Amino acid sequence: MTRTLSPVRLCQRDTPLEPMHRLRKLVGGPHILIKRDDCTGLALGGNKSRKLEYLLAEALREKADVVVTGGALQSNHVRQTAAAAAHLGLDCHVVLERRIVSPGVEYETSGNLLLDRLFGAIIHDVPPEASPAATLDGVAGQLGQAGRRVYVVPPGGSSTVGARGYIDCAGELIAQAAELGRPLDLIIHPTNSGGTQAGLVAGLSERGSDARVLGVSVGRDQAAQEAIVRSLADAIAEESGLDADLGARVRVDDRFVGPGYGQLDGPTLDAIRTVAEYEGILLDPVYTGKAMACLLDLIRTDNVSSSSTVVFLHTGGAPGLFAYASVLNEQLHT
Ligand SMILES: *Cc1c(COP(=O)(O)O)cnc(C)c1O
Repeated sequence: MTRTLSPVRLCQRDTPLEPMHRLRKLVGGPHILIKRDDCTGLALGGNKSRKLEYLLAEALREKADVVVTGGALQSNHVRQTAAAAAHLGLDCHVVLERRIVSPGVEYETSGNLLLDRLFGAIIHDVPPEASPAATLDGVAGQLGQAGRRVYVVPPGGSSTVGARGYIDCAGELIAQAAELGRPLDLIIHPTNSGGTQAGLVAGLSERGSDARVLGVSVGRDQAAQEAIVRSLADAIAEESGLDADLGARVRVDDRFVGPGYGQLDGPTLDAIRTVAEYEGILLDPVYTGKAMACLLDLIRTDNVSSSSTVVFLHTGGAPGLFAYASVLNEQLHT
């Protein structure tokens, strides 16, 4: 294994793995555990924190003085990167893409975007007609020409380096489930740039666990999303000399994409409300609400055995709720 890079400490690891008692009572079915990666602590938490511990360790090793990354206007990844950079004393430039028509004025002023500004990130918009990747390359190139040492964090933090955070998380899950005396049958979580799912399947395989992992797509169709996760999983296997067919373990459910990335629909809102009212836990409109809508559907349609144990990996995202204040308020009236 070529894993000489130690992570830089940015967040809480060993996040809690807890039962969702009241939700289980409501929906019946399997034991439901929630892995609280919304509680990683860095800038209100989320799954990018674990990836950034490895990515920014590489940035420091390369003696970077500025990090550049990108994402959607309400990206959780960008918010956590901006905070991590501030913590480490690195400058941070971010390229933000208007991926959707704003659901309300708060989408442009609140939520993650407000926090990016608070952390002192320098924000670049993707010009109309330009591609986000080309804009990011341009920003990084200009900083380099100005004599800066630039480290580019891939969007979503999903590279073989970033995914190590979720190889670690798989180990935590195995140990914590054993401590609770529960098997690990199914792990379900939202998937987009793929690092979370690829890291998990690699970490489980490495440790001989045959837990199933189901990624819930938040924008792409099943084939496209599986291809993204598989290619990263294959790259991890190759880099670490892991002799396992990781691609075969990658499964994606795309039935809860709804109208598209970042668009709040009925099943997502129902899932957010249910978990808020029954567990006092916040989900988000873009990622975890969709993944929970999928889990609730799988339980209601008897697609998860009631004797099994399901882990819902809470990947964070609740700061994004405030970007949807107008549409949420409208819906919560009814
Ligand atoms: C980025 C993100 C995801 C998706 O994780 P990937 O590793 O990009 O697939 C899921 N949930 C939240 C809240 C996120 O911010």
